[in-house]
Amino acid sequence: MNIVSWNVEPRRHPTDPSGYYEFLEPGEMAPLLKPVPGWRFHGVREDGTLFNFPRGRTSTDPATCEKSRALFMFSPPAPAPEHDLDCSCGVRVVKDLGTLVSYMRHLATNNRFEDPFLPHGPTALSVVSVTGTGYAAAMPEHRVRGGKDPRDCIRVEQVHLGSTMYLAQAWADGTPAPDGLEDRVREQYPDLTIHRVPTIYQIPGVPFIRLPELGGEVWHSSGRYGRYGGAGALLRREDKFLLIRRRDNGCWSVPGGANASRDVDPWETARAEAREEAHIHSTSEPYGSTVWHGEDGWTFRTYAADTTDTGPRRTPRNGEVIDAGWFTETDMHDLDLMPEFEEVLPELLALFEEN
Ligand SMILES: [Zn+2]
Repeated sequence: MNIVSWNVEPRRHPTDPSGYYEFLEPGEMAPLLKPVPGWRFHGVREDGTLFNFPRGRTSTDPATCEKSRALFMFSPPAPAPEHDLDCSCGVRVVKDLGTLVSYMRHLATNNRFEDPFLPHGPTALSVVSVTGTGYAAAMPEHRVRGGKDPRDCIRVEQVHLGSTMYLAQAWADGTPAPDGLEDRVREQYPDLTIHRVPTIYQIPGVPFIRLPELGGEVWHSSGRYGRYGGAGALLRREDKFLLIRRRDNGCWSVPGGANASRDVDPWETARAEAREEAHIHSTSEPYGSTVWHGEDGWTFRTYAADTTDTGPRRTPRNGEVIDAGWFTETDMHDLDLMPEFEEVLPELLALFEEN
């Protein structure tokens, strides 16, 4: 990151403050001579407060501001700004709403944005106008291409809440914002002009294409992981079955995980999870599958298949799995099995008996 200063490189700063988005070359940092207007998206909490703008608390959170300011600004030569209730510093700001909406679509498709059921997460989404001051930086080109930042996006030393908010009525999957949320936002931020929009992708003046194709690796309303449910496989090698032990509840179950999209073939999910969680690379075609139906429509499909792979040589430790092993049918009954798996186990074993 180079520092562009008046003395080192006397480039002409833009007369229109919005010109700073183009003025900063990727990898550059410069002082903003005028406050720069921009847009950001923010989750909204049940109590009407915006993530990053800690309104309604007894004190400000300058530590959070300082952390991201230091992260993005690479030790700017200026003294730290005074943080207050209306700032969220060291964050990305985007020049126009169209760019922001397409960036949000990108995030939603990649499981990094549309997640209404995230524990302690936002209950609605919003777009707010902001003003940036202090130093600003444009991320180096290679990081932009990697999908880190959208076009016309800069990181600004101090960011203050502006006067306009677009508050979504619903998430892209149809989950509505809570009743009375708009009033609570108004109480917290009396100076904001709030416009309701159907979703965050339907903002006046921005051409609406369609709602994003939402990724599956997020929380479901049932409190289970996987917007489109999950899939796994009970794999047999000779007379033994492969089970993994889950970190979250210590129970034994099949390797498995969330379906990545609405259209994914669950067998592909099951095979990918067997590779990742248990190092199984080849299997027979499945002999069939069972489906466990949970509350709120969540489902988990388990396939029955054979493998000749030996699986994990040592205990896999990928964060979700703490142990793995091969067990006979009799062994399995002595294990602390995942209740959902235990429910479908007789049906699964019957599929093997036919083959
Ligand atoms: Zn701040």
